[in-house]
Amino acid sequence: MRTINSVSELKDTVKMLKSQGKSVGLVPTMGALHEGHISLVTRCRKENDVVVVSVFVNPTQFNNKEDLRTYPRTEEADKRLLEAAGCDVVFMPTVEEVYPEPDNRVFNLGPVAEVMEGAMRPGHFNGVAQIVSKLFMYVEPDRAYFGEKDFQQIAVIREMVRQEGFRLEIVPCPIVREADGLAKSSRNVRLTPENRAKAPAIAKALMESVEYAKTHTVAETHDKVVEQITAAGMEVEYYQIVDSLTMQAVENWDDAPHINGCVTVYCGDVRLIDNIAYK
Ligand code: AMP
Repeated sequence: MRTINSVSELKDTVKMLKSQGKSVGLVPTMGALHEGHISLVTRCRKENDVVVVSVFVNPTQFNNKEDLRTYPRTEEADKRLLEAAGCDVVFMPTVEEVYPEPDNRVFNLGPVAEVMEGAMRPGHFNGVAQIVSKLFMYVEPDRAYFGEKDFQQIAVIREMVRQEGFRLEIVPCPIVREADGLAKSSRNVRLTPENRAKAPAIAKALMESVEYAKTHTVAETHDKVVEQITAAGMEVEYYQIVDSLTMQAVENWDDAPHINGCVTVYCGDVRLIDNIAYK
């Protein structure tokens, strides 16, 4: 595995590999890697000749300075995990390397980016579009892998890809969970033991609601999930039951072919997200 810090070296390396007719898959991450990330790398390994993983805590997607400051950084452990997972190239640039000057691009990503995370974290998806579009320009991958844990992010990236005319396949990958159901997240390490014990109630409420939804309305299902998580001692920021492609709220189960419920919860001061498919 080769570790690359510079954009020009990354471009040259990928160009050389492509000239040999090799297909290239990209997995963008912010590091502090866990099995969720590694599942993306494993899938990428199966489907491409060359696996490129980026590890970069992208400042432009943080709307909260404290969250950026305290975001876990575990570069050496990340490299070991990536090497074991069969990664060929890990791109670990500095902020100055990616943003030699401020990125002033404003993406108009439309309704998919205006609801839920878009409404709660102003500027977040614009920052995501900035970094992911840069990575796509550097690597020009055949495929890029994203986790369904960040469910809305996939819809936003698809819209960015459509607008910018990138030619690549976006591959969504299922959520990897802890044994007790909690979605794996780099931020889980920030949970106090007491809050870590509460957190599985999020996934439990979501999973139990799938059965409940079969005999109840969207509104009833919404309320049940919120009540169950609140009763477990956490604060629900939002729970929205949405069309899985447009991210717009649905009122009835037959409003869209695919429907997901997306939740954001404060567990102590740690903001956790999760989602579940209803159909
Ligand atoms: P992050 O480092 O949090 O930006 O995540 C990098 C990629 O890994 C994103 O596409 C995430 O959706 C994905 N990811 C993070 N956690 C998980 C998980 N528990 N299961 C599947 N994918 C995940």
